[in-house]
Amino acid sequence: MTEEKKTYTFTTRSKVVSNKKMTFMEKIYFPAIIKGMLITFSHLFKKKTTIQYPEVKRNIAEIYRGKHVLKRDDEGRERCTACGLCALSCPAEAITMIAAERKADEMHLYREEKYAKVYEINMLRCIFCGLCEEACPKEAIFLTNEIVPSNYERENFIYGKDKLVEPMDKDKRIDISKRQTTAVLEFKKDKNQSHNN
Ligand code: SF4
Ligand code: SF4
Repeated sequence: MTEEKKTYTFTTRSKVVSNKKMTFMEKIYFPAIIKGMLITFSHLFKKKTTIQYPEVKRNIAEIYRGKHVLKRDDEGRERCTACGLCALSCPAEAITMIAAERKADEMHLYREEKYAKVYEINMLRCIFCGLCEEACPKEAIFLTNEIVPSNYERENFIYGKDKLVEPMDKDKRIDISKRQTTAVLEFKKDKNQSHNN
């Protein structure tokens, strides 16, 4: 019984293989080696695309999506109200938090009645999409143009409030105005909006 031959196509990039005999020059491989060496050699004189990071750093855009910051308001109070919308919108499930109720003597620390006692971002999970920034109703979380530094230990990539909340010192606050459109900046000047007070 003769076996029926079938042809299966698994890709559109199939190539016809010829059985043609190699010429003498092809058989000795020498011209092909020289051609390859010339290509390699020509790259020595081309502009290098690599840099000696971290000694040399590339200029990155001001609206680059890097390490997050948890913002304070003008009076230095933490803006985050632990609503969880950032965690809910995070496609990488990188954000975890524990909420707590503000006490009477903590009015100067937290802007809202509820605040994030614990707020953590797993930077190994984060894909820096910026959805947490967009979801936040309190303008509490923003991404910055700072790159998350490398580290050998996985646990060092869990960023807690100690690394995320911006400094109290007004001169050391993180400027995020470049990330906001002109329309948003105009809206923020409107004192009739309770959102701005
Ligand atoms: S930038 Fe994206 S992935 Fe990273 S914490 Fe925010 S929502 Fe999650
Ligand atoms: S950062 Fe914003 S969205 Fe996330 S819990 Fe705090 S207030 Fe809510």
